[in-house]
Amino acid sequence: MDLQKLADALIPDTDLLPIEEYDKIYPPRALEKGAEVTRIAPSPTGFMHLGNLYVALANERIAHQSGGVFYLRIEDTDEKRKVEGAVEVVHKSLKYFGVNFDEGADKCGEYGPYYQRQRAKIYRAFAKDLIARNLAYPCFCTEEELEKTREYQTENKLLPGYYGEFAHCRNLSEKEIYENLRQGKPYVIRLKSQGNVEIKHPFKDAIKGEITVTENNQDVVILKSDGIPTYHFAHAIDDHFMRTTLVIRGEEWLSSLPVHIELFKVLGFPLPRYGHNCSIQKLDGENRRKLSKRKDPEASLNFYREQGYPPLAVNEYMMTLLNSNFEEWRLKNPSAPYTEFKFSVNKMGKSGALFDVAKLNDIAKTYFAAQSEKEVYDFLKTWADEFGDTDEKLYFADEEYAEKVLALLMGVGGKKRRKDFACAVQAVELMSYFFGEEVAQTDEYRFDKSTVKAIIEAFERTYDFSDDCSSWFEKVKAVAAESGFAADMKAYKAAPENYKGNVADVAEILRVAVTGRANTPDLYTIMQILGEKIVRARLASAIQ
Ligand code: GLU
Repeated sequence: MDLQKLADALIPDTDLLPIEEYDKIYPPRALEKGAEVTRIAPSPTGFMHLGNLYVALANERIAHQSGGVFYLRIEDTDEKRKVEGAVEVVHKSLKYFGVNFDEGADKCGEYGPYYQRQRAKIYRAFAKDLIARNLAYPCFCTEEELEKTREYQTENKLLPGYYGEFAHCRNLSEKEIYENLRQGKPYVIRLKSQGNVEIKHPFKDAIKGEITVTENNQDVVILKSDGIPTYHFAHAIDDHFMRTTLVIRGEEWLSSLPVHIELFKVLGFPLPRYGHNCSIQKLDGENRRKLSKRKDPEASLNFYREQGYPPLAVNEYMMTLLNSNFEEWRLKNPSAPYTEFKFSVNKMGKSGALFDVAKLNDIAKTYFAAQSEKEVYDFLKTWADEFGDTDEKLYFADEEYAEKVLALLMGVGGKKRRKDFACAVQAVELMSYFFGEEVAQTDEYRFDKSTVKAIIEAFERTYDFSDDCSSWFEKVKAVAAESGFAADMKAYKAAPENYKGNVADVAEILRVAVTGRANTPDLYTIMQILGEKIVRARLASAIQ
């Protein structure tokens, strides 16, 4: 068969460059020895998974720590999965988490374009070359025919796929091929695999260590019927010509590794190093399972933006999952940026990383506790501008007031900083009782109505906004004594049966009346921040 003629018939494009040209267009990168070129290659599905950040951080660290290059490639070959605005979701997520790439989609770079759809000519040039070298062929099988083969293979417990005796179109005669073309039958281009599944090779995965890889014997599709490549083919061509040195990607791709090894081989490209990263899991009852896009809101990167988690805290938590010695380093270097940690591929987990939201919350709380009220104000305001409701946006209109509130909620200037919120949603919930005349009743009173009324009325009579903290407290004590509560804790402990309660209970009643909650920071300061008018209005409405 005249293979060049066949290649021209199957891929008739007249504007393809000779494949040798691509080595000149995308020459090896001039980098120091040991510098790694890594990438993230998300598909624009509109959904960014926590796993995307996980892989992105690892790749970013590996590249930048070694003086290499980290780039972004948009893998948009799957028309069916494409969603409007999805690339923006990728950019927004990477920006929020401060994952900086050097080259890539919408940023200049010598190795672009970085959108796969814009690289169609390159893939087609190489597919054509494979056909001419008898390493690829057209397949005219219909979906129904392939389905029939699948059923037969399942029934007979045979390996699924298009290989050996099932690779029907591999053996079409020249006459049959041209007849199919004449009839206008749609076709895909398949690899003519040279592999043998009986043969196994040792393989060193940068993360999993020594593994065994079985040779590929599948005649996988390399160009789909619309002329666009599959992931496999685009991966080999792009990672070669973008000069990736280390492919860190999700372990779901491990099963495709034999195909990729064969594709690099037939294309004549040296194989990059691979590291297959374990997936993020969570405990579901007693069982571990993969963090699921469908079941777990925290699987989505949008979740962290919408809840207002500080990006650095999320990155920090990801680092603890990525490198087993990160936490030890952090203890020794409590305030160093995480980028100073020496990230190492060898220390990446071989099996699933367990995601624990309680641990993330701890890290986020500690993060906020190391910030000033001004820094937290700026962060929360930016969050509220994008995600807050109308009331929440207003919390940040008066910066001085909001910072006073935050300083109190965060325990700024106190012996120990409070760690009460892990994200903006939690912070604004705590801030809420500082705004508006009315207050939402979050907690109940522990005393009957008439006792509450008596206490509040007694307090109203003596309350003076200009009192300092100790006179204020003396008055609360006096209210306690007057209402049958112990003003003195020692006296109460000695004979609780003599009292309705103690001064702390009285303070709690006032606290619930003024803030709607039983637990808050210092009540005197809260009243000072709220101002006399609001305090009196809330006390009055509490006994109405
Ligand atoms: N587009 C693939 C994905 O989103 C990328 C896999 C890779 O990193 O090679 O899963």
